[in-house]
Amino acid sequence: MSETAPTHAGDAWEVLDRAMADVRALSGASWLLQWDQETYMPPRGAAARGDQLAAIQGTLHERLTAPAVAEALARAEAAADGDPDRSAILRALRFDHDRAARLPGDLVRAIAQAQTDGVETWKEARAGNDFRRFAPKLERLVALRREQADAYGVPPGGERYDALLEGYEPGMRVARLEPIFARLVSWLAPVVERITAAPRPDASFLEGRFDAEAQWAFTLELLEAIGFDGRSGRQDRSVHPFSLGLDPGDVRVTTRIFERQPLSAIFSTLHEAGHGVYEQNLPAEHRRNVLCAAPSMGLHESQSRLWENLVGRSLPFWRAFLPRLAHRFPALEGVSPERFHRAVNRVERSLVRVDSDEVTYNLHIVLRFELELAMLRGKLAVAGLPDAWNDRSQELLGVRPARDAEGVLQDIHWAQGELGYFPTYTLGNLYSATLFAAARRDVDGLEEAIARRELAPLLNWLRQKVYRVGRRKDAEEIVRDATGTGLTDRDFEAYVKEKYGALAGAAL
Ligand code: ZN
Repeated sequence: MSETAPTHAGDAWEVLDRAMADVRALSGASWLLQWDQETYMPPRGAAARGDQLAAIQGTLHERLTAPAVAEALARAEAAADGDPDRSAILRALRFDHDRAARLPGDLVRAIAQAQTDGVETWKEARAGNDFRRFAPKLERLVALRREQADAYGVPPGGERYDALLEGYEPGMRVARLEPIFARLVSWLAPVVERITAAPRPDASFLEGRFDAEAQWAFTLELLEAIGFDGRSGRQDRSVHPFSLGLDPGDVRVTTRIFERQPLSAIFSTLHEAGHGVYEQNLPAEHRRNVLCAAPSMGLHESQSRLWENLVGRSLPFWRAFLPRLAHRFPALEGVSPERFHRAVNRVERSLVRVDSDEVTYNLHIVLRFELELAMLRGKLAVAGLPDAWNDRSQELLGVRPARDAEGVLQDIHWAQGELGYFPTYTLGNLYSATLFAAARRDVDGLEEAIARRELAPLLNWLRQKVYRVGRRKDAEEIVRDATGTGLTDRDFEAYVKEKYGALAGAAL
């Protein structure tokens, strides 16, 4: 037996390598179709596009869960030789395979149908400010997600919500999130109180019209400056900015331009470029298997937030780039980097998550996390959701929506049945602060370099500590190895208090 075992394992790897390459290729093709759908597809292409995506998704699922793959996976695991990359591939593939295989086909179809229904009805309900119209669709989606969670099974140390969270943030648990979120709220509330009691910074120089073409040119300059490689990606325009990595050699990012809101394009581009440089710097030698990917949504988001906020909303960054911006927009000549920095860091109690600042943002996430957790636990009925939303919004954010369209109906996530996704935004914010603090310690003169428009030292640090790891480790393990600490809100707390304390000229 000992003589034939390696041959068997070799056969098994051949089967797995082929299956993984096909899954990667099919995913890439489906992402390209989705990118096209959001950028250039003519409106009447929508019906065919739905069919095309469904066919690819179906094929992908079959390819991943085929009996031959299951059997080869078991054989390769039994013959594992301790090679670290191969072990990591087997772990990741086992995870993907089991999650796909545990879902009955009719449940997958029922969810897809309920998502389409959910989004269509949500659009109408939001336009008409009519939550009751959306409620039955959401009830159906919550019921299906509970069924889905039960099909996956509760992960070790977890509860039903964790089975869904696991799909976005493998290894994370409600039991870990709850105390960290509680601590976050306890120090954020007084900080927001103190910042918003101070006079609002002047941003009058951002009023007026900023030419769209000149804005576009500036976003391209930013992409190049942070190290987004134009030979391995491109930027286009879309209604909702997003990024997609088909492969490290082909990464698509989008931005949006409003002539009367010049900051929108700048920060959308920086955010998506953060996702983009991560994708471009994944381990390309694993491009045909499961390791050429980020391990979680939260870690991916940490990179968009790091470039958008920790870098893009810092004073050194605007010392470097405001002259470049003013060169394109003479109206900004004479505005100091300090004044500009203040204007891009206004903090206010607001209703809408996507327009909120980096300080209050996490309170919007805590609100959603608490409510979706309560729904999944069966402690909050969909009918009671608007009141629960408004009451908790008042407590956490100090504002109460007058209309559900600006409250419980504002996000698309629940309409798509995405429960368990929201916490990854806050994980991204927390990880971004921890990673940036470590980069400041490790890289001499990091901020002086940024002020000289030299962003390569930071990019190289991230490439080595985060991007090149791919999916060899869990998100928290990558952060711990890079920084010495796992998930914590303490670095984010220090960042917020230092930055906004300096802006307010008083200790927070
Ligand atoms: Zn993002």
